[in-house]
Amino acid sequence: MSVFTHIDFDNHEQVVFGHDSASGLRAIIAIHDSTLGPALGGCRMWSYATDEEALRDVLRLSRGMTYKSALARLPLGGGKAVIIGDPRRDKSEALFQAMGDFVDSLGGRYITAADSGTGVAEMRIMAQRTRHVAGAGQREALDGSLRDGDPSPSTAYGVFVGIRAAVRHRLGRDDLTGLRVAIQGVGQVGFNLARLLKDAGAELWVTDIVEANVRRAVEQLGARAVDQLEIFGLDVDVFAPCALGAVINRHTLEALRAPIVAGAANNQLASPELAEDLQRRGCLYAPDYAINAGGIIDVFYERSGGSPAELKAHIEGIEATLEEIFRRSASEGATTTAIADRLARERLGR
Ligand code: NAD
Repeated sequence: MSVFTHIDFDNHEQVVFGHDSASGLRAIIAIHDSTLGPALGGCRMWSYATDEEALRDVLRLSRGMTYKSALARLPLGGGKAVIIGDPRRDKSEALFQAMGDFVDSLGGRYITAADSGTGVAEMRIMAQRTRHVAGAGQREALDGSLRDGDPSPSTAYGVFVGIRAAVRHRLGRDDLTGLRVAIQGVGQVGFNLARLLKDAGAELWVTDIVEANVRRAVEQLGARAVDQLEIFGLDVDVFAPCALGAVINRHTLEALRAPIVAGAANNQLASPELAEDLQRRGCLYAPDYAINAGGIIDVFYERSGGSPAELKAHIEGIEATLEEIFRRSASEGATTTAIADRLARERLGR
């Protein structure tokens, strides 16, 4: 397994392998770029088939975090951690304590947070061993109540304001009343997004592989449930992927009728050139790492101690960033993803 010649190696500053025999921890932390500040990014736990697969994931994801934070105007660099193991079977207190020690060994150059396979509970265990962890405590919410470290409501709010920007640009309207939105995945982010859209007067169609999640959206928000495959071909204004990556591929692209794709999922395009296909079909794509930055902004405010009102205002900046991306894409003829990458590099000072 090579690192420096790996296809996803992008001049990463540091790639560290961590092992602890007692707890069985096998993990990798990658710091891609710390130009703008300490590298912040989630700790993913996944049953990777090979070490190579884990390395690939951590190299790609850490690079993505550099771009996401730069675009969101955060004084943070890009980093990520992966734990090799099945999150349903292999979790233990000792494992996350050892992971906390591993994070601590980097002295604050990398700050960890929750990701797929980890959550508030795991952050709290790591916090016993390191202060370089986000999402472990409680803090004040916008309405004055106490909230935990789950950033999903902030991610959903960022996607909501991003949809507003896309609708204004593509459909020429500000009012979301009657806007038809199809949401794939009504989990933590998708459900919060559905609620915000419902409150703004939108009509909702939802799908999920977990029946209880669909039922919650139908019963609480009056959404219409559709089949998993049906969600792509609906005659709606917005398709919002909030489940998994690579949902836009050759197959689903053919079915897609919505003039806007804007959702929370990471790595929505199965391959980069699909951005051109979407553009050719007149579909406005909100680059995933631009629209789903509400979570990282949330985590940053927890660390920096900013107020809930400041956090909200920063998340609302996603709307302006997307407006700029859409405007430049239209005037320069480049895809929204190419413009987003360019804008991130500009903000990185490159
Ligand atoms: P989640 O696990 O709570 O929700 C995902 C939902 O999608 C679940 O309800 C799941 O059952 C459903 N799902 C999975 N496969 C599906 C399929 N094939 N068809 C339909 N539904 C399916 O996760 P989340 O925290 O809501 O995150 C959603 C997406 O947003 C993920 O891609 C995540 O990486 C991304 N994201 C999340 C955050 C955050 O703050 N949570 C931040 C940035 C990006």
